[in-house]
Amino acid sequence: MSSASHAIVLGAGMAGVSAALQLQMRGWNVVLVDRKGVGQETSFGNAGIIQSEAVEPYAMPRDFASLLAIALGTTNKVHYAPVALPQHVSALVQYWWNSAPKRYRRIAASYSKIIAVATAEHQKLIAQTTADHLIRRDGFRVLLRSQAAMDTTLATAERLAAEYGVTFKALSPAELGKAEPALIETGVGAIHWLAPWTVRDPGGLAAAYGDLFVRLGGTFAAGDADSLAQTPAGGWRVTTDGGPLEAEHVVVALGPWSPPPLRRFGYRFPMVRKRGYHMHYRAPKVLDLPLMDDAFGYVMAPMVSGVRITTGADLIGDEPPLMPAQLREAEKAARTLLDLGAPVENRPWVGTRPCMPDMLPVVGAAAKHKGLWLHFGHGHQGFTLGPATGRLLAELMSGDAPFVDGSAMDPGRFH
Ligand SMILES: Cc1cc2nc3c(=O)[nH]c(=O)nc-3n(C[C@H](O)[C@H](O)[C@H](O)COP(=O)(O)OP(=O)(O)OC[C@H]3O[C@@H](n4cnc5c(N)ncnc54)[C@H](O)[C@@H]3O)c2cc1C
Repeated sequence: MSSASHAIVLGAGMAGVSAALQLQMRGWNVVLVDRKGVGQETSFGNAGIIQSEAVEPYAMPRDFASLLAIALGTTNKVHYAPVALPQHVSALVQYWWNSAPKRYRRIAASYSKIIAVATAEHQKLIAQTTADHLIRRDGFRVLLRSQAAMDTTLATAERLAAEYGVTFKALSPAELGKAEPALIETGVGAIHWLAPWTVRDPGGLAAAYGDLFVRLGGTFAAGDADSLAQTPAGGWRVTTDGGPLEAEHVVVALGPWSPPPLRRFGYRFPMVRKRGYHMHYRAPKVLDLPLMDDAFGYVMAPMVSGVRITTGADLIGDEPPLMPAQLREAEKAARTLLDLGAPVENRPWVGTRPCMPDMLPVVGAAAKHKGLWLHFGHGHQGFTLGPATGRLLAELMSGDAPFVDGSAMDPGRFH
């Protein structure tokens, strides 16, 4: 193996482990480095949906009613702490600008092409693991509580079906009740997105990918990405518990922690850090498939640890509250739909969606440093996208023709 095919991947979430596997499949010799294990942070705590229906990324609402609801704190979909706003403001302004219809359409065109291969790229990996029992390939449902919300969601679903071939089925309250007998209340019905896959243990799937990586000859090392330095010969060095490691190429895939270490090399990446929470509940009767409660902006998903409630976006400071209001509201709303039972944990899990203000992940070469590659900023759908953008990155690093035009995701767009 030539020295040109050695890489260190920093960060073993879904983005990092997928990039490591995709490089390995192209003959690279890879060391995966994380200060924890594989898939123990954001990729552990999400809602576990491989969202092939999310062909358009999560835009910032621009209509007056949505903005007023956020400002007044009357929606549970987005929360913010006024004292923390200054730290988010610059990225939020860019997010607002990119969410304007014309720009958003261009962004969605790139996004839809990459998400189109998300399940296929996951399947290539799942097929080589014993994790298939964690996967359902039956979609997920969105429960609507008012006819107005149903009409809006249905119109969006019909548009996505016409433009991108997304598949869905509208369910009446009775049909939803038949599909989910555990529900106490079925609102005005649901939209069932048919193509997404759902995972009963997202951290377990990431860990299975990590095991596959080691089984195929890769090395995992515990280490701190903050030790990243350039070697005098122009390569890269990082300190691990087993001593220093060097390689000609390094990939930064540190999810929400990616921007700070890059500042030392002169790169400033804006990021909208959308906090999210989860808790599990010992529901006596569980749901068949994950259910999003549109009115309250949370997802209830049957997981190996119980029914997991995951919340929407919380723009707050660095210290999360012990019991966030958003999770409290979600739990209250969920109890009107399902007998949730007692919580499993006594405090919530906290994670951060690493959202770029233009809603596209950062995939490709750093502008000013040879051998420095970036793979982060997957926002609301990083669990979905990891293997797909990992493939794009591995193709770029290998000098292969990329399967999709990745120029919109090039890191240089921020500099
Ligand atoms: C509540 C919630 C629900 C979500 N639901 C979904 C969903 O249903 N579907 C979906 O597709 N996406 C979902 N997401 C988004 C998704 O979870 C993220 O986009 C994705 O997990 C990001 O993966 P990542 O590998 O980039 O980051 P992470 O999984 O956070 O991985 C980053 C890694 O870097 C490591 N690290 C950090 N700093 C250092 C350091 N200094 N040294 C060494 N290692 C370090 C961490 O330990 C971690 O392992 C959700 C997110 C949240 C918060």
